[in-house]
Parts: sequence; structure tokens; C-alpha cells
Amino acid sequence: ANQAARRSLNAFVSLAERPALFQTIKDAEAKRGRELTNNASGPINGKLIAVKDNICTSDLPTTAASGILKSFTSPYDATVIRQLRDAGGIVAGKTNLDEFGMGSHSIHSFFGPVWQSRNNSRVLTAGGSSGGSAVAVATKQSWAALGTDTGGSVRLPAAYTGIVGYKPSYGLVSRWGVIAYANSLDTIGIFARDSRSAQTLFNAINSHDPKDPTSLLPSTRTQIAELLSRTNRKTALRIGVPLEYNINELQPVVRQAWVRTVHLLTQLGHTIYTVSLPTTKHALSAYYVLAPAEASSNLAKYDGVRFGSRYAGPDASSETDSVLFSKTRRQGFGSEVKRRILLGAYTLSAEAIDNYFIQAQKVRRLVQRDFNRVFSLPNPLLDSKPSSAHQSTVPDAAKGAKVDVLICPTAPTLPPTLEFLDKQTPVDAYMNDVFTVPASLAGLPAVSVPVRSSPSWADKALDGEMVGIQVIAQYGDDDLVLKVAKIVE
Ligand code: GLN
Repeated sequence: ANQAARRSLNAFVSLAERPALFQTIKDAEAKRGRELTNNASGPINGKLIAVKDNICTSDLPTTAASGILKSFTSPYDATVIRQLRDAGGIVAGKTNLDEFGMGSHSIHSFFGPVWQSRNNSRVLTAGGSSGGSAVAVATKQSWAALGTDTGGSVRLPAAYTGIVGYKPSYGLVSRWGVIAYANSLDTIGIFARDSRSAQTLFNAINSHDPKDPTSLLPSTRTQIAELLSRTNRKTALRIGVPLEYNINELQPVVRQAWVRTVHLLTQLGHTIYTVSLPTTKHALSAYYVLAPAEASSNLAKYDGVRFGSRYAGPDASSETDSVLFSKTRRQGFGSEVKRRILLGAYTLSAEAIDNYFIQAQKVRRLVQRDFNRVFSLPNPLLDSKPSSAHQSTVPDAAKGAKVDVLICPTAPTLPPTLEFLDKQTPVDAYMNDVFTVPASLAGLPAVSVPVRSSPSWADKALDGEMVGIQVIAQYGDDDLVLKVAKIVE
């Protein structure tokens, strides 16, 4: 029964074929033999890894869960896939998602929704957009999984399925071969059942890639490592609790898990500070202007000429000469993607750009400044000396305590039922991302960790009320978020 239930969660779009899988396992074992003789054992060798279907693989189709790419197979592997395979990892299959990563519940898919079921057999959302990857790991169909996180798409499904979801600092992991949603925000993210495994997988893919122009340069990586080694951090950490995340919409069970986590950290000798991130309330609106704007530009290439499926009919007609483009796009894209394209094209238009796109970019800067103000570690991407203009705009009251990490919920509620989501407006659905988009706008490392809301609930993963708690740190401080995740989980 368990097997049948797993199959029906709609987590996978395509699976590696058994013979191919065994061959890869054999190759991996042979390789491990070689590596062991070279005295280098690969920690992900022979491990099954599920891959979100917006990451290109040469052996399985890559659809981004879109009708427009339903028959597309990439001629090459994304850099992350090559890195996995080089380390002996095995691609188990490609996982279901919200079309092109646009959504928070994995329900906007050409292949139908992903879902999960808990003990009382309610059909719940698995979160999105990387819901298939989250379910694959939570139901132990794979050891770990890759997803993408643009505004929370790894952290939110991890929180909803009771596993670890880690979004590294922007630029650490290569995006080459990852189907772009919003380039300035897109990051590869990792799902695992514990933070140690997440770290192991991260180590295999954390390196510079000359093919990705936004990949962090080796020189900058060295500078960050030097900055971190100069920072003599005490074992007692300074933990920040951002006041603005304590919103009315927070479900009591989520607040309870947050309080429990903070309490646990004080018991372990860490110090808690309340901090203020005043721009938080505007971050969500800014994100939903910027992400669709970038998306509308990225998706312009799906015109039926170069990629994927095409409208079967005449290329042009007497009425209009763009029948091919418009029919292909009307037929191929789902409604949420069309909504984002329209939204993005509008906010980038000459009449609207000043009021929307430019304002949102300014808000993005303010969100980044809020974070830089509360972290004790300076942002390694900025000049070490803040400019005097910057200094003078900081009101005294906002200076407050400096902290090493921030702790807050990943999402305001536990996973809703699919039935409930049917009745939601798009704007209600966007609200789910309120706690995840700030770190995305600032490019910061963040991890969602499953925490029991009460000490009596015994079961982890899909069988208990696990709440996702988020740990956020300064840019480049990835080891610290994972370290704190280990303490909390
Ligand atoms: N839910 C957000 C969106 O729809 C984030 C998605 C993501 O991170 N890919 O844009």
C-alpha cells in the first residue's frame, strides 16, 4: 500500500529506466572501486538524487512542467548534473513542479498537481514550486534532491513536507543548464532528510563555473573564506528574531514551533536579540514585480521556432502574420505563466516602468540594506567601508543589535489542503512566500529545518506536525546556516 501511495503522489515526471539505473549504479560502483584505490571515497557515490524537471539532463526529457516543452530533451547536462555524475551520484528521475517554477504549491503543472497525504489521509499541498523533489525525499524515493529556489521554491516545499531545504548564497552553484525563471534570483537548492546530507550534496556542486556569468569567481570565494576565518566567532551565537515576521496571519502552531526553537537555542547558551527588518512588508510586492518582469523576458524565446512544441497549422494567415507565435504560446503555456508574462510585460512597459519595475528595484536595495544592518558579518560583496551617505541615512533607532543568524518561520501556516487552494486568488497564493522572498531578494543563504511544534509529536517527515523553521545568514555565511540547522533539527 505504501508503494502504491508513493507512486500516486505525482512527484516524478520521468524516471531513469531500470537497466540504465543499474548500469549507472554499476558504473558508480566501479568508479568507487577506482576512487578507493586512489584513496578518495566520494560521499555521494551511488546515491540516488531526484532532479527538478527544469534542470537539463541529456538522458531524460526536461519539460519545466510546461506544455511548451513537453517533448524537449536537452542535448547536454546542466553543470550541476555533470558535477553529480562525476561524483558518482545517480539521477533517479525528473520531478514535477509548477510550470517554469512559477507557483508555491506545485499545482500549476502540465502533468497535474503534486500532493502529499498525512496520517488522517487529507490531500495536502506539497508546496512549490519544487514539490516533486520535496516529496521524492520525504517519501524516501531518493536520498536527496535538487530543486530551484527563486523566491522560496525549495524552502517552502521542504517546510510543508517535513524535510531540510537549503538555498545557498546566490552565485555559489552554477545555473548553466537550468531553465531560467528570474535570473537575478534563481538559485539551485538542495533537499535532504538532514542537514548533514544537504551539506554533503552542496560540497559536490559548490564551485565556480566559467559557463555561468553570475557564478562567483574563485578570487571572490577566497576573499569570503578569508573574511570568515578572520571573524573570530564565539561558540555562543547571537541569534536574531525579526519582529516583522510575527504577523497576524501566523498560525499558532507555527508560532509555537518558532518559540520552541528560540527557547532551545537559549538553553544551549546562545543569545537572542529581537531585530527589526522594516522593509520586510514591502519585499513581497517587490518580488512579484521583479520576478515576473524577468520571466516575461526569459520566456520570450518559446515561440515554437527554436524549442519544444509548436502549433500545428500555417505559420501565417492573411489576418495576422504571427499565427505561429501566438497560437504556440496560447496553447503551450498554462494560465499562471500567462499571468506572469502579462504582468511582467506591463511593468516593463514605457508607461509603467518608473512606477513598478524601478520602484521594486529600489525596495530590493532597501531589503538588502536591512539585512546588512543586522548582521555582524559585513556583506563581502560590498566595500568593507560603508559610504558616508549610507551611514547618514541610518536612523539611530534602527542601528540595534548585530547578530550572526536570523531565525523565523519558513511559511505562515502548515500545508493547506488542495481543496482549499482551489478557492484561493492568485494574490492569496503569493502571500505564502512572505517569509522566503526577503532572503532571495538579498541573495542570502537560507535553510528550512523541520521542527516539532510540540515535544510530544514523535514522528518526523510526513507523519507528524512538523513546522519549517528558517535560518538566514549574511551572504557567503553558508556554513553557519547549515551549522545552526544541525543544532535546530
Ligand atoms: N512562489 C514563488 C513564485 O511563484 C517562488 C517560486 C520559486 O522560488 N521558483 O514566484
